[in-house]
Amino acid sequence: MNQPFSLTVLGARGSMASGRRELMRFGGDSSCYMVRAGDETVFLDAGSGLVSAPPRFPKPPVVLLSHLHLDHLLGLGMYPGFDVPGQRARIFVPFCESEAEANALLDRVFSPPIWPLRLSAFRGEPVLLPLPDRLALGDLLIETMEGHHPDRAMIFRLSFEGRSIVYATDYEYEESSFETLADFARGAELLLCDAQFTDEEYPARRGFGHSTPGMALELLRRSDAKRLLLIHHSPSVEDETLLLRERTLEDRRASYAREGMTIELQDL
Ligand SMILES: [Zn+2]
Ligand SMILES: [Zn+2]
Repeated sequence: MNQPFSLTVLGARGSMASGRRELMRFGGDSSCYMVRAGDETVFLDAGSGLVSAPPRFPKPPVVLLSHLHLDHLLGLGMYPGFDVPGQRARIFVPFCESEAEANALLDRVFSPPIWPLRLSAFRGEPVLLPLPDRLALGDLLIETMEGHHPDRAMIFRLSFEGRSIVYATDYEYEESSFETLADFARGAELLLCDAQFTDEEYPARRGFGHSTPGMALELLRRSDAKRLLLIHHSPSVEDETLLLRERTLEDRRASYAREGMTIELQDL
């Protein structure tokens, strides 16, 4: 029998978390997704959504940071799961070479006077490590590629028992990397792709590091993934607007991510 393999959206808002009532159908927490694969738990990014994740797991969780923009990071400072003695989480930090460099990078945010405590002060003593190109956690394989984003960002593919999730947040469509990304995402059951801007807004936002629904749908077609979740919703876009945008998506494999939703990969 297949082991559980699922993704839960803990925060799909981009750039800044917001608690406005008008955002609550899709959610206001910033980027964080929880993947359960057998007894492994992986958090994709650690925005404010991480704070509401369960605190205890059969094995210590792993956090993969796509990059260090604050909307992907701020949940680290308040996650109760780091405070469980004996549950030593590993946090993988991209674009650095050593444990010392990973610690120095995160200390820039999580140390006084910006934040009262360093991450190492949690009772679970989470460790910060440089992100490798590939990582195997039991039968869960994690592969990486660099996307296209200001200050750089990584894209992840997580494969488990023949099924895959691809997480392409903070990616701006660019011809030279797009074909590589389509190959990287080929045949995935679940593709998450940045679609912060509308196709109409995009010309004035070129270079900001985000894509549009049209670009994400093109990636869906070129990669032949089975399901697409559009992510990194702008904090200024209200539920009614996102619902309208969702109705105009011309591919029924595509929808906007909603905070709290869980997708079981076996069902795709
Ligand atoms: Zn972001
Ligand atoms: Zn970013």
